[in-house]
Amino acid sequence: MSTGHLTIDLAALAANWHALDAKTSVETAAVVKADGYGLGAARVAKALADAGARQFFVAAAEEGAAVRQALGPGPVISVFSGHMEGDTDTLRDLTLTPMLNSATQVKRHFDTLPDQPFGVQLDTGMNRLGMEWDDWAATAERIMRAGPTLVMSHLACADEPDHPMNPYQLDVFHQMTDGISTPRSLAATGGILLGEKYHFNLTRPGIGLYGGAPFDDAQPVARLDLPVIQIRDLAEGEVVGYGNSWQTERPARIATVAAGYADGLLRHLSGKATLWHNGQPCPLVGRVSMDLITVDVTDCDEDPAFLTILGPHQSVDDLAKNAGTIGYEILTSLGGRYSRHYATR
Ligand SMILES: *Cc1c(COP(=O)(O)O)cnc(C)c1O
Repeated sequence: MSTGHLTIDLAALAANWHALDAKTSVETAAVVKADGYGLGAARVAKALADAGARQFFVAAAEEGAAVRQALGPGPVISVFSGHMEGDTDTLRDLTLTPMLNSATQVKRHFDTLPDQPFGVQLDTGMNRLGMEWDDWAATAERIMRAGPTLVMSHLACADEPDHPMNPYQLDVFHQMTDGISTPRSLAATGGILLGEKYHFNLTRPGIGLYGGAPFDDAQPVARLDLPVIQIRDLAEGEVVGYGNSWQTERPARIATVAAGYADGLLRHLSGKATLWHNGQPCPLVGRVSMDLITVDVTDCDEDPAFLTILGPHQSVDDLAKNAGTIGYEILTSLGGRYSRHYATR
């Protein structure tokens, strides 16, 4: 088999949920959008429900299908993008709770699904998603009469604890929502770490569950082992890969490994990543191609059958740094060709 092995540690996922839950005295939901941050929404959601999560968030109504099927009828599944045109049947059939983002969405929801639960998303300065002050002021009374499940907003800079945007958005959220009896939510992973003032009634962690920064105490959840297809000896001065972008400066042993940019190993990692064999770092040399990478295994004490690119020696954030991106993008780029194994320990 020449596909990589992606191992998803569901026990670590559950431990991360418990650890984030223990940081607050309020309810902890779980964000499982983008196919559970690339790790498989159905399996991830089920494991988090078993850990105790009762509320889940997805980005789009379509994403709710796999989650609802995995969880059954009980848990609340909310949709960040709200109630878009064409969503009505999906929201009704799957019993999803849209977070309404505009007066247009409010009207659409009240016209088509007047008895279906909904929440409201407010924009407190990020200028991305949610009702602005004017919209909210004009419709709040009508919305509150209908009894939303949740009033939420999202922080733009929560991964920078000292950023002045954090207290600013907190203040705006208070001004927009103080006095209402509906449960409120402001914090994702970063917001949980900002402290109690940011917790309100419900937190919405995503990345921290999956082992990513800014939750530095997270247990790693994804491990990726890539099979070596072929190994060859090179003389000093030989070149490797597309564009001849790497040349040996000593006699070298080069392993050809079965994963490439089509599997989420971003091409920007060319010449910049490290793979591991039993604690021995092995540099990726030459360019990342679609299905293959080449790795210098000269210093290994044996020919590796597999090389590890996500594991105990290298986290998603380590790899992200080398690729000039963030752990979120590494995880959600993990390709569809890997064989996936869900470990429960
Ligand atoms: C993605 C997202 C989250 C989860 O954020 P993390 O940083 O992954 O914890 C929470 N709320 C909203 C609105 C989001 O878009």
